[in-house]
Amino acid sequence: MLDLSRLEKVKHSSGKIIAACPACRAEGSDRTGNHLAIFAGDDGSFESGRYTCIRHEGDSDHSKAIFALVGVIDNERQPLDHQARREYAIKRQEQERIEREQKRLTKGIQDNLERKLEPYLCDSWRAELFDRSPMSLDCIDAMRHDFLKCMFPQDAVLWMGGVYDAGKPEHRANFKTCKEWLKLETLPPRIAPAHFREESFSRTNENIIKKPFIIFECDEIIGKEPSTDTERERNKQLTSALALYAIDKLGLHLRAVIDSGNKSLHLWFDRPPQSAMNAIERMILGLRIDANPFRQSNIPLRMPGCIHIDSKKPARLLHLNHISQNESI
Ligand SMILES: [Zn+2]
Repeated sequence: MLDLSRLEKVKHSSGKIIAACPACRAEGSDRTGNHLAIFAGDDGSFESGRYTCIRHEGDSDHSKAIFALVGVIDNERQPLDHQARREYAIKRQEQERIEREQKRLTKGIQDNLERKLEPYLCDSWRAELFDRSPMSLDCIDAMRHDFLKCMFPQDAVLWMGGVYDAGKPEHRANFKTCKEWLKLETLPPRIAPAHFREESFSRTNENIIKKPFIIFECDEIIGKEPSTDTERERNKQLTSALALYAIDKLGLHLRAVIDSGNKSLHLWFDRPPQSAMNAIERMILGLRIDANPFRQSNIPLRMPGCIHIDSKKPARLLHLNHISQNESI
């Protein structure tokens, strides 16, 4: 039995009640408040009716979580309900333990971040990245073409365009094979670091068939948002040290570095095996790596020459490695 008075966003519709799912909300989702459906019971009352979360249908743990949050103990079923509450409490404790552990790890890494990066810091970091680049980066006009050639196989379907060039059928033209893109004299300013299904017109995850890269971007590796030229430069310098740290200590294989033209660098690495990904995932907060570009392969990243809206400066390719550590391209 659920205590209807404790539910939020309650809406009555024919034969059922729609409300916010308390378990989803506890996890930060269901902001609109329509995941929970409660059906009228045999006696016509909702108190005795069946309930389900439409996002977690058939998930008994989720049902137990809902009950633990807004359930009412029915005397006849007390032993079972008690059990449900106990199980939920244990689960919550475990989750809290993991969160505490993550916080401790994050703090530990952050406290020592600059010291960790110190051995990799270099005043002439740009020249250093250039010098270490396996591909020559002298011809600025050919950068976008060189970037595609080195980073993607010819038959991979790639999205390129402006930030909003996806999501509608007319955007099918923004999805072409690498080979087709290379035939164009001028290439669009942005690319997503993924291979897409043929005939895609949106960058949704369902259309992604391969995620060959992980991206490190740090908007605040100096510990706060950079607001002066000196701080922006320092932010990029520390990120360049992070690139070398990632190669040395995390075993990552660097493929490209793009200076966004403002305060950050985009570090493109080959995606490592899942076991390594799990370990890195736990470190990204500590290393002040932005979660979004790290987790999402469908975001429109800057190509070389893309003008930054704040600084009015172009993005620059600082490093390009045509050799993949994963399957050959
Ligand atoms: Zn739910």
